[in-house]
Amino acid sequence: MDLDLVFLGTSGSVPTARRAPAATLIRRAGERILVDCGEGTQRQLLRSGIGLVELPEVFLTHYHADHYLGLPGMLKTFALRGRELPLTVYGPPGLLDLFGALQRIFGKLTYKLDLIEMRPGDTLDRGEYLLVVFNVNHGMSSNGYALVERPRPGRFDIAAAMRLGIPKGPLFGVLQRGERVTLPDGRTVAPDEVLGAPRPGRKIVLTGDTRAAASVLEVAREADVLVHDATFAEEERERAEETGHATATQAAELAAAAQARMLVLTHLSNRYFGPEIAREARAIFAETVVPRDFDIIDVPFPERGAPRLIKGGALGRHEEAEAGVEHGASGVDAGPNRGGGDSVDPPVGGDRVGAGGRSRAPSSRA
Ligand SMILES: [Zn+2]
Ligand SMILES: [Zn+2]
Repeated sequence: MDLDLVFLGTSGSVPTARRAPAATLIRRAGERILVDCGEGTQRQLLRSGIGLVELPEVFLTHYHADHYLGLPGMLKTFALRGRELPLTVYGPPGLLDLFGALQRIFGKLTYKLDLIEMRPGDTLDRGEYLLVVFNVNHGMSSNGYALVERPRPGRFDIAAAMRLGIPKGPLFGVLQRGERVTLPDGRTVAPDEVLGAPRPGRKIVLTGDTRAAASVLEVAREADVLVHDATFAEEERERAEETGHATATQAAELAAAAQARMLVLTHLSNRYFGPEIAREARAIFAETVVPRDFDIIDVPFPERGAPRLIKGGALGRHEEAEAGVEHGASGVDAGPNRGGGDSVDPPVGGDRVGAGGRSRAPSSRA
């Protein structure tokens, strides 16, 4: 059962030459869940090998513009293409208000648009997994989202089944589903007689924008992958606190305390390139990566290995060729084997988060 994360936008607050604003696609088997939809997300999808597929659902973490500005454009494109498949947008309270305003931009749609407000503590039961909404600390109505798989049944022990005299066939399947069976001779067999211990499912936690928070630590315990805000390096701790974000150090400390398997840092301020954020965090939590746009994190079942970063894994063929030339020429990639950088992006311009300027109004927070 494939499970991965595609990073379509990894910049905080404003786009940079190399990084788009927040958008992460979770892919599980055939399902596609988009979390946040920053400006230009539809084009990021088009540039990727995924394409602008008819996503059935989008989850917004909060209503700072860098997390939803891509939605009206994408909804409009879907309508121009004559989409019929319904689309559901989930988000914290305030979603209906937001769409009251956005409606004027995207106009009439060819498909049904459902808007569902969710609060921390709410859960969507998807059978094999749950989508859990949790509280973060960003100074406004915000949701973090966790995908938590249910434990899988243990391995079926065929030798044990044969010893018990269970005839090959449908009874195997019944036992595998965790139900008792009655054999032709009247004996009953319980599932635990032929199944190994239940195997853990996977857990992916996406915080969206947040300070380091106890509520995040709670949900991130033993997560396979924790995707955390790292807008700043530790030298900017005060600004992080002011603007409702975390530093790389704070995120790493939280990942270590939670015993997460991998920490993924994103939402970088445009003053950082990536490697410095990665270095700072790795001093505390070694299994840290700082993906660039179009990187993928593959999340196998625990018995099949650790989560891993696939650099440029989602690049379309054309983009891949271009990226290959650039990377080869510039030697930008300062990290030993992961965690890229953006040295072509000048750390200038922008908003309160990215570029200092304490005099800016709080409304420019993102
Ligand atoms: Zn943001
Ligand atoms: Zn924000």
